[in-house]
Amino acid sequence: MDKLKVDIERFLKEEEERKKNQGFTQVYEIVPGENPLRLLPRSSKIFNEGDYHFAIRYFVHYNLFDVQGYRMLVCPSTYKQRCPICEYIFSEKWEKVSSIRRQERFLYNVFDLRDNSLKTLETGPQIYDGFSKLWVDSDWGPQKMIDIKNGCVIKIILTPAKESNTGWNKYDVSITPRVVDLSNLLPADWLDFVDRLETKIPLLKDEKEIERLLDCYIKGIPPNLEEIENRNAIMEERAREIEALGSKDDKVVLTTPDVKKEKEPECFGLEYNPRKDVCKNCNFWIRCREAFLKG
Ligand SMILES: [Zn+2]
Repeated sequence: MDKLKVDIERFLKEEEERKKNQGFTQVYEIVPGENPLRLLPRSSKIFNEGDYHFAIRYFVHYNLFDVQGYRMLVCPSTYKQRCPICEYIFSEKWEKVSSIRRQERFLYNVFDLRDNSLKTLETGPQIYDGFSKLWVDSDWGPQKMIDIKNGCVIKIILTPAKESNTGWNKYDVSITPRVVDLSNLLPADWLDFVDRLETKIPLLKDEKEIERLLDCYIKGIPPNLEEIENRNAIMEERAREIEALGSKDDKVVLTTPDVKKEKEPECFGLEYNPRKDVCKNCNFWIRCREAFLKG
């Protein structure tokens, strides 16, 4: 047998690269109790172009669907583009649509003092307001918050819902006078990390897709693409079935049936027949057909 020939050097180099890249996607996790960190600039522009801010803001819509991958949609207004969901919200009664209203999210670059690593922090307005107050406070401000050498430790304190007086998770942001000099703790390429913050906004879906999803939401149809494609495939099959039966009068209609929750008819799953008018006009024919074929 040949002697083993393993390039450990190469392995270690790849490992190093892997760890470095992992750092780029690491998220600062907020746990109950004290969460210590040092805030970093949102971009390197603060050193040469005089950036004035510490966070990147974007907008999202929650609650359109309770389906994995569709629980949150980035609102196009993040990029000053037209948002079909926001337009729909404006046209409807507030009580009906308040749960899907546009909400603010914020991204920050931070240095995690629990494990001395660069991370991305993502929060809602409660924590952002805490940072904001310190940012404009003359006793603290940018010098004490993000200066690499002279910046102070910031703590996010999470009181879990079951212990808070409001019944919701409560977040407090405070700053301590303890200075942590980051000069020797930051990796050499930390500015590359800092300048990637904007890329951590979740991907924006295109306008057509957002319109389709809004339509699904209004009609109460699940948003999954596979399901829609699957449904289209079943409809084509149904068209072929009708054709195969050879009736000239049967019109093949290829529309997505309305699957709003109604009571199933008594014949459900028992008498599926694509030639019958009652089946053609039935809202349940897809599931009925499945049940019928399964026996
Ligand atoms: Zn929107």
